[in-house]
Amino acid sequence: MLDIGVNLDHSSYLEDLNAFREEYQQAGVDGIICIASSLEEAQKLITICSPYPDMHYTFGCHPHHASTWQDNHTQVLLETFKTDSKAIAVGEMGLDFNRNYSTPDEQIFAFEAQLNIASQSNKPVYLHERDAFIELTQRLAQAQLPKQGVIHCFTGDKDQLKKYLDLGLYVGITGWLLDERRNQTLVDAIKYLPLDRIMLETDAPYLLPRNIRPRPKRNHPKFLPYIAQGVAEAKNVSVEDVIIATKHNTQALFF
Ligand SMILES: [Zn+2]
Repeated sequence: MLDIGVNLDHSSYLEDLNAFREEYQQAGVDGIICIASSLEEAQKLITICSPYPDMHYTFGCHPHHASTWQDNHTQVLLETFKTDSKAIAVGEMGLDFNRNYSTPDEQIFAFEAQLNIASQSNKPVYLHERDAFIELTQRLAQAQLPKQGVIHCFTGDKDQLKKYLDLGLYVGITGWLLDERRNQTLVDAIKYLPLDRIMLETDAPYLLPRNIRPRPKRNHPKFLPYIAQGVAEAKNVSVEDVIIATKHNTQALFF
């Protein structure tokens, strides 16, 4: 199994990274993709992940941080993707008109810049969307993306899912699927998500699967098997099939 969504820059993980890694490996997780939300965080991930061949990272700017985007960042990203084989996707990038920590104009500017970077460096995009579905999908439809990408932490409905699939994207599923208070839309939608387009992610330390007993304090990539199991049940297929397909998908897109 490969966890495509870990927010590694969390003190509880960094205190003992070797132990952190052993724990997820023992749970059958062979590797993780760490999410960079800003260039500053991305630079940190380069250092943190360098001793570990099974840790990779995205490199880019989250819509929340779009106001920090500067013209020279394009050069930094292009250079990184050219020289650093552990930087495997542009992102986390996207549009989030729910909280607007950066203005919509700033978000669109950073988003378009990163679409260009993805196409120039032949890398997939690692996408975030909240309350910006139409704007995001229209812009994606016009972009020239050689590798497409993944919509991470998908929580939408069947129509949104279909649109993302039509755009050629993979779809990241988190522990949201196991949250009975708010998962009904996703449980319905996932029936239309083919196995060859699914990826698994914990979004650790957030989105702890709610069915773990005793309940841990925070999420961890070692809990990825719970999400694989949830996908298997929602799609009525075997967990082995989910594990094989999602690993294959992740390797096909990123490695
Ligand atoms: Zn996100």
